[in-house]
Amino acid sequence: MSAILNGEVSHWMRSASPRRYHSPLPDERQDLLIVGAGLTGLWAAYFAAKEHPDWKITVVEAKRVGYEASGRNGGWMSTLLPGNRAVWAKRVNKQGGDGIAAMREFQQAVNASIHEALDIMRREGIDAGQAQGGNLHVAQTPAGYARLKGKYETDLRYGYSPEDIRLLDAEETRERINVDGALGSLHYQHTTAVDPARMVAGLAEAVDRLGVRICEETAATRVEKQHVLTNRGPVIANTIFVCAEAATGKIESALPGFGPREVIPVNSSIIATETLPERFWKRIGWDERDCLMDSAHTFIYAQRTQDDRIAIGGRGTPYFFGSKLTGEGEVDERTIRSLRQKLAQLFPGETLPIAHAWRGSIGVTRDWCAGLFFDRESRVGVVRGYAGHGVSSTLLAAKTLLDRAEGRSTELVRMPWNDHRAKKWEPEPIRWLGVHTMYRLFEYADAQEARSGKPKTSLIAQFGSRLAGLHE
Ligand SMILES: Cc1cc2nc3c(=O)[nH]c(=O)nc-3n(C[C@H](O)[C@H](O)[C@H](O)COP(=O)(O)OP(=O)(O)OC[C@H]3O[C@@H](n4cnc5c(N)ncnc54)[C@H](O)[C@@H]3O)c2cc1C
Repeated sequence: MSAILNGEVSHWMRSASPRRYHSPLPDERQDLLIVGAGLTGLWAAYFAAKEHPDWKITVVEAKRVGYEASGRNGGWMSTLLPGNRAVWAKRVNKQGGDGIAAMREFQQAVNASIHEALDIMRREGIDAGQAQGGNLHVAQTPAGYARLKGKYETDLRYGYSPEDIRLLDAEETRERINVDGALGSLHYQHTTAVDPARMVAGLAEAVDRLGVRICEETAATRVEKQHVLTNRGPVIANTIFVCAEAATGKIESALPGFGPREVIPVNSSIIATETLPERFWKRIGWDERDCLMDSAHTFIYAQRTQDDRIAIGGRGTPYFFGSKLTGEGEVDERTIRSLRQKLAQLFPGETLPIAHAWRGSIGVTRDWCAGLFFDRESRVGVVRGYAGHGVSSTLLAAKTLLDRAEGRSTELVRMPWNDHRAKKWEPEPIRWLGVHTMYRLFEYADAQEARSGKPKTSLIAQFGSRLAGLHE
């Protein structure tokens, strides 16, 4: 058996090997300066350059295009919102609006953003192996299945239509993907599996063709009005967007949305198998390449890749003390073992060979809701805290930042993540203890539910979810 590659950013980045961009820093004032060449920064550059072909636009990137979450993720371009619907709805209600109506609009905008991204990818010739098979949320325990039934009702209330989601029984589930012991599932339309590195690399090339300057190996250290300080010198710009997600807290700035305790990096890890043989796929199905998730509290997310591997992700070691980022993405043995176990629980019968393991950081605010800010006085915008659901919503965020910078009163600038501020994360060591305790509680709750066989969510998990403010 060949050795598992560990880290080296991700399987996707190694295979796609995106082009490098070594432009010098601009010495003249820019119309727009963007910090971060992930999906948010590149979508923002794309829409700005399309709208203002005469603008001078620069993207500064600490490492290389797609180096962080955008080149490492599970490749779910999904309808999942980057936040907790109940929290946002409550906030809108408090401000005198209709929270549920606002969330319905948000949901529909996220669903539509997938189609918009796919249209642009088609027009720009971006081949990320996209497959629109939807996503399948599978239950292997009675408690998990009961949760899915409840989720179906909640989803309809929050803006999915009956055409968007279907509740499937065990047989219908296994016809899509033959998950061992599946009791039922929810199938969501729209969601599209992509190779994230090919997507972000293709977008960078499209942006480059539009004349945007991309400066790799250029880290912003401080942001203030019209001025970004980098390790290679200062850049002056009329408008600045900071799109650094989990690393936002490392950038010095007194402006709204910044600060080391506003957003923290939470780890997510993935293992990818070798290309699996035809006989395996005959047994499992998975013909439409649906994105796959289970209903455990320590949930996994997976996809069948275009080249017939399984890439399966989950939390493992959830957080590093002091909000340390994941660097080149090396994964500890315990996490690899737990992902292998999850894979074996879904598809027992043979040991599936693992080719590569890696991890990345998702940006998480204290209430797990993304926040988008644009300060009119300094003309600095920032978005962060997608909580692991950014592949589709980065497009919406980019368009929203632009609308706000242009002073447009669109539907987007009224979406509830605008100026949404969570309370700050606790200082260390409470933060480290809190995140680790939460995941231990979830592991314990999963084991308890599997043992009991009852269609009831464990009280421990309910307590953990409340403590964490997790998604509804
Ligand atoms: C393992 C993993 C799995 C995931 N799976 C999914 C999924 O399946 N579906 C989904 O919707 N979401 C998923 N996510 C989340 C999703 O990838 C992100 O929400 C999304 O990519 C965020 O894009 P971004 O451009 O805002 O941030 P990033 O992709 O993190 O980009 C930020 C960029 O800014 C750069 N940067 C940071 N600091 C500085 C600085 N000081 N100066 C200059 N540049 C800087 C970074 O190098 C990076 O390139 C996952 C994330 C991870 C880590």
